[in-house]
Amino acid sequence: MLKGKGVSKGIGIGHTRVLKNEEVKITDFKIQDRENELNYFKQCLNNVIEDTKKVIEKLSGTEADIMNAYLMILQDPTLTSEAERLIKEEGYNAGYSAKVGLETVEEVFKNMDDEYMSARASDIADMKQRLINKIANKEELDLSNLPENTILVGKDLSTSDTAKLNLKSIAGIIIENGSENSHVSIMARTHEIPAIVGAKEILDNIDNDVYIAMNGNTGDIFVNPTKEEIENLEKIQKELDDEKNNLTKYKRRKSITRDGYKTEVVANIGTPKDMEMVIENGAEGVGLFRSEFLYMDSDTMPTEDEQFEAYKEVLEKAEGRRVIVRTLDIGGDKDLKYLNLEKEDNPFLGYRAIRICLREPEIFKIQLRALYRASIYGKLAIMLPMISSIDELRKAKEIIEEVKKELKDKKIKFDKNVKIGIMIEIPSAAIMAEQFAKECDFFSIGTNDLIQYTVAVERGNEKISDLYTKFHPAVIRLIKMAIDGAHKSKIFCGMCGEAASDERFIPLLVGLGLDEFSMNPTKILNSRKMIRELNHKECKKLVQEILKMTSANEVKARLEEFKNSMNSK
Ligand code: PEP
Ligand code: MG
Repeated sequence: MLKGKGVSKGIGIGHTRVLKNEEVKITDFKIQDRENELNYFKQCLNNVIEDTKKVIEKLSGTEADIMNAYLMILQDPTLTSEAERLIKEEGYNAGYSAKVGLETVEEVFKNMDDEYMSARASDIADMKQRLINKIANKEELDLSNLPENTILVGKDLSTSDTAKLNLKSIAGIIIENGSENSHVSIMARTHEIPAIVGAKEILDNIDNDVYIAMNGNTGDIFVNPTKEEIENLEKIQKELDDEKNNLTKYKRRKSITRDGYKTEVVANIGTPKDMEMVIENGAEGVGLFRSEFLYMDSDTMPTEDEQFEAYKEVLEKAEGRRVIVRTLDIGGDKDLKYLNLEKEDNPFLGYRAIRICLREPEIFKIQLRALYRASIYGKLAIMLPMISSIDELRKAKEIIEEVKKELKDKKIKFDKNVKIGIMIEIPSAAIMAEQFAKECDFFSIGTNDLIQYTVAVERGNEKISDLYTKFHPAVIRLIKMAIDGAHKSKIFCGMCGEAASDERFIPLLVGLGLDEFSMNPTKILNSRKMIRELNHKECKKLVQEILKMTSANEVKARLEEFKNSMNSK
């Protein structure tokens, strides 16, 4: 049995597909049989063309247009003539010839004055890679079209790979890297896909099409499981299903403590499709719409209209419940290929989120226009990510005002009362919460980042994940500062980081006075059940006890004890 860390519970049983994302290394060597090599090159090129055609059949709209443009590139003989020359006249191997030949063409396009033509250079680079992969026999996985009951195995799963997945076919995910708070783990929990990270030996032991069973809770991986092992796992799955069924009665109940303290339990979503889960789990609204997923789910920047449609759909489906859309939070561990962001030594401390939007206001304005146009279809709130200083908030608000004025001048209708809030996910914002609260309408604490920036531990780094903890007294103090700061100006404070749905943390957050708990839709009913079993006064006492503690381990032990005492009541 192999093992990793279970990060999304449930049992997965299926056949593996291995995602190999390391780059193919191309070496140059001279070949004897040039004719044969040229035939091989042409055959690979043809295969790529056929693959592309198959992909196009399933697409429509812009995506189909992009792929058709790729097809034209591949079928244009002038683009491959240099590669063919290298094989025929100089006797180089097909891989090297494809690389150098297409790079020559790529360079020509890059240097063209016409903006449209020079932008085609990246299409050629993409096609070049596909061709090289084919020549090197490195099959790419078509993530949008995996067979049923696939257990996806890989070193890592990037956020953009995640966005491409057809989730219905995924029975489980196992990756070598990653941690509980990597985006792939968050996505897996949202969609109730069993997932295991940190499975160190998986790629050495597993190939394509291996029959596997996995337990996303314990991190156990069974290769070619026995009948008995399968039966045991199915029993565990049945218990999980029963547990889930028992929670349905909380769907329409209020999120209120036994002594009448009112909170809201709302949902984190990534795409309009997630609204199904939001409704199914009785969320009182959307506390975080990670809008960057709209950008990552596409090979080009989504247009204003495309974004408008997505926001409108979410607002309509929310039927009057508040929807907090967070503006583009790209960078860090979330890359956008078409933005061509420079590689940075410290991406988490670099050019990301609001920092990009304020320096490239055109990108920001497209999103804001789409948001305001959609605002008439429901109760929209806009949230700014990665705010570290008051000046950023003021600058963002100025741009928002400009957009509103433009819309007004054009007589385009929008809701004038859209609330503007900020994420509290950088310690400087938590420390200055009282001041921020005077200049915005709400806060939402992003513990996923707040923890990493407070204790200087990268959120996805498994090696030091023991140091990445919400139980650190410094993190708890910052959360308290944010909530107290908000309440001083009578604005609400929510939390949309993963900590908001941790059963050990909820009593503490209730005691601290958190107003809104935003989480994976699948966690909502359980969290609401828990809140309804709490007594606000007892939680406040618990807070006093916790604030006296100086060690994260002690805090954790006490909160675990509190939770267990509730279970036994
Ligand atoms: C957070 O940082 O807690 C958060 C909710 O944002 P993300 O996980 O998308 O960075
Ligand atoms: Mg964040």
